Amino acid sequence: MRQDPGSLIQRDRARLWHPYAAASPDLPLWEVEAAGGARLRLRSEDGTRHHVVDAMSSWWSVIHGYRHPMLDAAARRQLDSFSHVMFGGLTHAPAVELAERLVDLAPTAPGRPALERVFLADSGSVAVEVALKLAVQFQTASGKPSRQRFLSLRGGYHGDTFAAMGVCDPVDGMHSAFPGLLAGNVFVPRPPAASSATPETVKRWASELADITAAHSGELAAIIVEPVLQGAGGMFAYPPECLTALRGMADRHGLLLIFDEIATGFGRTGELFAAGHAGVVPDIMCVGKALTGGYLTLAAMLCTGEIAATVSGGRAGALLHGPTFMGNPLACAVANASLGLIEDGGWRADVARIGAGLASGLAPALALEAVREVRTLGAVGVIELRDAVDVAAVTAAAIRHGVWVRPFRNLVYTMPPYISTAADIEQITAGMTAAVAEVHGHHAARRPDAA
Ligand SMILES: *Cc1c(COP(=O)(O)O)cnc(C)c1O
Repeated sequence: MRQDPGSLIQRDRARLWHPYAAASPDLPLWEVEAAGGARLRLRSEDGTRHHVVDAMSSWWSVIHGYRHPMLDAAARRQLDSFSHVMFGGLTHAPAVELAERLVDLAPTAPGRPALERVFLADSGSVAVEVALKLAVQFQTASGKPSRQRFLSLRGGYHGDTFAAMGVCDPVDGMHSAFPGLLAGNVFVPRPPAASSATPETVKRWASELADITAAHSGELAAIIVEPVLQGAGGMFAYPPECLTALRGMADRHGLLLIFDEIATGFGRTGELFAAGHAGVVPDIMCVGKALTGGYLTLAAMLCTGEIAATVSGGRAGALLHGPTFMGNPLACAVANASLGLIEDGGWRADVARIGAGLASGLAPALALEAVREVRTLGAVGVIELRDAVDVAAVTAAAIRHGVWVRPFRNLVYTMPPYISTAADIEQITAGMTAAVAEVHGHHAARRPDAA
């Protein structure tokens, strides 16, 4: 194998793509040399080492921290047994156990059918694809083949594959890059922000939702939303009552309600699933990201028994999806270990403790003129700037303060691992605030209420 001279980072820049990035010789990159607990050891291009607290949980997935002994042990145990087998015609204990756990954990409500059938997918985007396919197949099998479109919220994010992109925000998402491939879905305005919503603004939003749904109901198969917190679309929280309105609309017009809990699932917002803030149960739910504690790529789609039976009894006679690595045993085994930790229930106190630390630690950022709002929900903390973040400069400044963050648009945010200590959270919030102050100015706010 030919090895180019130069640092690992230079070799990366010559050969690899990174997420949403140009193939660029100038891409800022750090090498991860080691990871443990809530910490990463980074090496910059000039060889400098940085020991940082991970404020991102590797895109919200590493909820128990790096190299967790129980997750490591689960992976090793499964390695010694078998790492992968096909799922067509074969099954194995890790997949069956995982499906049973997910069904046990899934949200329930009196009088509502339970989510009891599980499809294991390789990534969040694929789980969303499968959910959308299932919804269309359900409508067709129910004698409504004209219902082929989806209703979603502006500001939403559901993944990077085509059908998933099609239900992402039509302006901030990728619709303009693929205009011929992503048209046809219906969008409802974003609900009012949780921080400023009133019963009146929620009611006004719900009546807009009702009008738009009624106008398109004959062509719609399903409603898909991120419950309570829109993640990659802007770290935007909205009132749980909006989920009740969505449930009502779906029922009134015969639409399926899909909750994309890929970012919100497994405790991040303070409830096990964000659906729990409203006691609303969807017909279909997608989970991913933290499912394996961030160890391996795995996601799942859950649906009611009625949907499963209807689609299975339809003309197609099957749910038309089946990835090569479906139900990967290694990933399922680690997911079972991660869900075992979730079942122990310690996450609830951790998320509450982290949320309180984020709220008090980020409050001083509000005094910066560049900052429009500071908000927290569960173990999520957000500094929203008035203008776009200088991502490279804020990232580098935060690293100097011992914190790894990955800002986007006008947001510097954190979703720390649940194992983060009070000192970790202090370091994260102080580092985020200092980085914003250094890069975007120290000026005190003109607002009289900001200390
Ligand atoms: C990350 C995310 C996805 C996509 O998951 P991938 O594993 O990146 O494909 C879908 N929906 C939501 C809400 C997400 O946060």
